[in-house]
Amino acid sequence: MHGARLGLAAAPRRDKKPADERGAKMPILVMKFGGTSVATLDRIRRAAKRVGREVANGYDVIVIVSAMSGETNKLVEFVGETGQFYDAREYDAVVSSGENVTAGLMALTLQEMDVPARSWQGWQVPLKTNSAHSAARIEEIPPENILAKFGEGMKVAVVAGFQGISPEGRITTLGRGGSDTTAVAFAAAFGAERCDIYTDVDGVYTTDPRISDKARKLDRIAFEEMLELASLGAKVLQTRSVELAMRYKVKLRVLSSFGELDDAAGTLVCDEDDIMESNVVAGVAYSRDEAKMTLISVADRPGIAAAIFGPLAEAGVNVDMIVQNISEEGRTDMTFSCPTDQVARAEKAMQAAKDSGEINFHDLVADTDVCKVSVVGIGMRSHAGVASQMFAALSAEGINIKVITTSEIKISVLIDRKYLELAVQALHDSFGLESAV
Ligand code: ASP
Ligand code: MG
Repeated sequence: MHGARLGLAAAPRRDKKPADERGAKMPILVMKFGGTSVATLDRIRRAAKRVGREVANGYDVIVIVSAMSGETNKLVEFVGETGQFYDAREYDAVVSSGENVTAGLMALTLQEMDVPARSWQGWQVPLKTNSAHSAARIEEIPPENILAKFGEGMKVAVVAGFQGISPEGRITTLGRGGSDTTAVAFAAAFGAERCDIYTDVDGVYTTDPRISDKARKLDRIAFEEMLELASLGAKVLQTRSVELAMRYKVKLRVLSSFGELDDAAGTLVCDEDDIMESNVVAGVAYSRDEAKMTLISVADRPGIAAAIFGPLAEAGVNVDMIVQNISEEGRTDMTFSCPTDQVARAEKAMQAAKDSGEINFHDLVADTDVCKVSVVGIGMRSHAGVASQMFAALSAEGINIKVITTSEIKISVLIDRKYLELAVQALHDSFGLESAV
């Protein structure tokens, strides 16, 4: 998404603008409700109460809704049952429909509560995307239509998340979990005061509470940390939504729609400058289904990495960690990791590259019983010794590390999957995450 085309420059926070310059008179709040928060009519009513309360607080509200939980999966399955090679445009036409239902039901529920509300499908806004069906990128959200309605007294625009319209005029979807991205993009385009993501957890935790009972809810987390955690498998927010929030400095709050109406603390995802003090390590993340693939004895020559990873990329393999082992007599081993369900694809691509003579290797060994555990924190930038502490904590549990990668604010290791829980707990303890600094 491009700043100028999103209209951000033209839409600063509206509370700082003269009252009716842009059509509407109130500051705008974006509230997003995920699938479990709209799973039944009863829950839609509970969500609508929260919306009604913010209207009473003086906001014009843009509500972004997901499909009722389980609906999108069902639609995806239906499409799969029509045949193996389906038309991606029709896939989008089908799987986007779950959100249409909730948008209409939410608008009806709000109207029933005497809150002036109207539903909007992506094309009606219009939320313009590119043509990459099933994984479309947002290009522009012209705010005029919705603002005009706010100007006429509408208090809530209920927008179907996850969907948009391509330049060809076809319905597109933004990829699974895409409603988060819809919500942040609306907050950016409308200069919303905040973007509240209502979900079934009450915030972002130092690690998965199902794995460690010492996991602690964070009051605040920096965009960069959330980005790492989201892409490392903490499934609270779609990664792209965090990228977008970081780029446009959208204040993002994650909170539960299940608690008491005014128990709305949650976790604020914000600029690191807005966080006074935090632990060196903010959280421990994991991803369970990783595979470690090693190409044994490839030629150690210029271009070999490109010859290996080019075909893998073309085959749609999401390569994560890469290690080139020490070279001996012009030959080397190349190790990489990818999700387990992409192993077959990776093997096929490598065999094809070998058959065509682009690369040569002695053997391809796949270890599909590994997982990835990572520690994340912006404090690592200024603290030495995080890596050694991590390795010591793992070794104290007798856990062997197979591959290590690091970035400025993250250290990841591949280990045997059977040690996942143990490793997460040991690291959570070692870095003292159960209590804040
Ligand atoms: N309903 C869509 C999905 O399940 C989009 C979303 O809920 O974010 O992926
Ligand atoms: Mg979601």
